Formats: sequence, structure tokens, C-alpha cells
Amino acid sequence: MDLKEYIASIKDFPKEGILFRDITPLMLDGKAYKFACDQMIEYAKEVKATVIVGPEARGFIFGCPVAYALELGFAPVRKPGKLPRETVTVKYDLEYGSNELSMHKDAIKKGDRVLIVDDLLATGGTVDATIKLIEKLGGTVVGAAFFIELEALEGRKLLEGYDVFASLKY
Ligand code: IMP
Repeated sequence: MDLKEYIASIKDFPKEGILFRDITPLMLDGKAYKFACDQMIEYAKEVKATVIVGPEARGFIFGCPVAYALELGFAPVRKPGKLPRETVTVKYDLEYGSNELSMHKDAIKKGDRVLIVDDLLATGGTVDATIKLIEKLGGTVVGAAFFIELEALEGRKLLEGYDVFASLKY
């Protein structure tokens, strides 16, 4: 199955100069969506993940099906102010300004083998911040799985030393 057929590429969204890769056509096709999730499920088995972590919001789209299929827990990474209990927070730089991401303090236990799942790897800033959150909580990041990797943005460089899986590369 050629999954690239299910990705829409939108010029100048959300800003001029950006070519946005839209995964919603994939999600609308049940067989293609399952095929994409199944690849991540296989990867999660290979790295022997014991818990799945996904950044909001598109990390939930792939991360939750992986957790469900393998009967693993899923922990969300969210913007500050969204999680109701005690959290840890990491700040990271964007092209213009900065961003913050949080996790519940009790989301990860020492010794957990954590797989991070997100829809797309661009500069790697989001997943790098997510790794910091997990490691602050005592978890071991055993891999990061993406549906799409934008190779020109060299996110893998930031993730040196970590295992990275991507279904599609542009
Ligand atoms: P990074 O932090 O630069 O690696 O950006 C990755 C994050 O931005 C992911 O959580 C994506 O959901 C989002 N993102 C960046 N570019 C795109 C895109 O072209 N399509 C969909 N999501 C994107």
C-alpha cells in the first residue's frame, strides 16, 4: 500500500513558505489508517515498549491505537495548563519564540521503556522536549516513531543516540 497517496500537501499553510503535510485523508480511509498504525505497532513490539507517550494533538492519533493494540498505557504530553494534577514542564525554542510542554509527574515510572509516538518529525524540537520530560521522570526512551519524517529539517540529528522509526519520508 502506497501511503503517500493518502497525504495531502498544502502550500503556504499555516504560514507562507510552509508545505503542510495533512494526514486527515489517511485517517478517513480505515484500511490505510490501520496499515499505518500496524507499522508502528510492529516497531513498538521490536523495541519492547512498556508505555506509549504522545504529544498533543496528532501524537494521540497514532499513539493511542498503538497503546490499545498492545494493551499498554498511554501518557499524553500537553501544553501547560491542560493537565489537572502535578506536572513537570520543559521549555524549548521555536523558530520565533518558545513553547512549553508538560506531563503528569506520575505518568512515567522508573524503569519504564517509553516509546514516543507522533505524526510527524520536522525539526525534532517537540520530540526532544518530550524526551527531556520522560527522562526527568526516570523513564528510558527506547524509540521515537513517526508516521512522516521531513528529512530536510534534520530532526534526526537532534535525536542522535535514540532509535527513530518513520513510515514515510519527504
Ligand atoms: P518539530 O517539533 O519541528 O519536529 O515539529 C513536529 C510537530 O509539529 C509535530 O507535533 C507535528 O504535529 C507538527 N507539524 C509540523 N509540521 C507539520 C506538517 O507539515 N504537518 C503536520 N504536522 C506538522
